[in-house]
Amino acid sequence: MDPDDVARRLDAARTHRNPLTPFTDLHPTFDLAAGYHVQRRRRAAHTVVGWKLALTSLAKQQQVGVDTPLYGFLAADDALGLGQPVRVESLIAPRAEPELVFVMGDDVAGPNITAAQVLAATDTVAAGIEVIDSRYLDYRFAPGDLAADNVSAATYLIGVGRPPHDVDLPVLGVVLTKNGHVVDTAAGAAVMGHPAAAVAWLVRELYTREGVGLQRGQVVFSGGLTSAVPVRAGDTITAEFAHLGQLTFDCE
Ligand code: MG
Repeated sequence: MDPDDVARRLDAARTHRNPLTPFTDLHPTFDLAAGYHVQRRRRAAHTVVGWKLALTSLAKQQQVGVDTPLYGFLAADDALGLGQPVRVESLIAPRAEPELVFVMGDDVAGPNITAAQVLAATDTVAAGIEVIDSRYLDYRFAPGDLAADNVSAATYLIGVGRPPHDVDLPVLGVVLTKNGHVVDTAAGAAVMGHPAAAVAWLVRELYTREGVGLQRGQVVFSGGLTSAVPVRAGDTITAEFAHLGQLTFDCE
C-alpha cells in the first residue's frame, strides 16, 4: 500500500466524517511498522507538541488483540482551550477518557530509559482529558490501522500541573462524570502499573522506531485511565483528579 495514499484517505475521512473500513481487511500485511510509516508522513504536516499513548492497559490490548501499547503524536492544532466546547458535529464517534499528562522539564532519550529517569526529567504532572475519535467504522481496526490513524487522536485538554514528587501517581484517583453522573473511576496504576513506566516505554519505543526522544516542554498523554466514554452534543464531561483538580468541558 502506498503510504501517501493511506494518509490522504485518513485525512479525508477525518475532514468529511466518513469512516473507513480497516486497511488490513484487504491488506493483511499492513502491519504496525507500515502503520507508523503512515503516521510519520502525517506528522510532518503538523506542529508537534508531544505524544500520546494508547492501549496501555491489558484490558484494552485484549479488546483489539495486541500485546503492546501504541503511540501517536499530539498536534498543536488539536488542543482544546479551558472553557472551550468540543464540537461533536466535527467528529465521527467521539469518546472521552481521563489521563495523567507529563510535561517534560528536560530532554530524555535512549533505549534503556526507566520510569525513575522519566520522573527526574518531568517538570509537572497534570490532569488531562483526551477525546478520541476513530476514522474506522465502530472502532474496528488492527494495530497497523490504528497507528496510521494516529491512534484515534482528536482533541485534548490539559489542566494545571504539579511537580511529580508532590503526588503518588499509582494511587492517584480519578472520578469521571457525565452530566453529573459517575461513569467510571480509576487510579494511576491502571496505566502499566505506573504512568511513568508508560512514558518510559514511550521513550524507548521512540528511540527504536523514530530515532528521537522527548524534548523539554513536550507533553505526553500517558494513556486512558478509565474506559473511554461516548460523548454527544449536550453532554458535560468532568474528570476530578486527586491533588490535580478538576477538568470539564461541554459538548455542542
Ligand atoms: Mg488516550
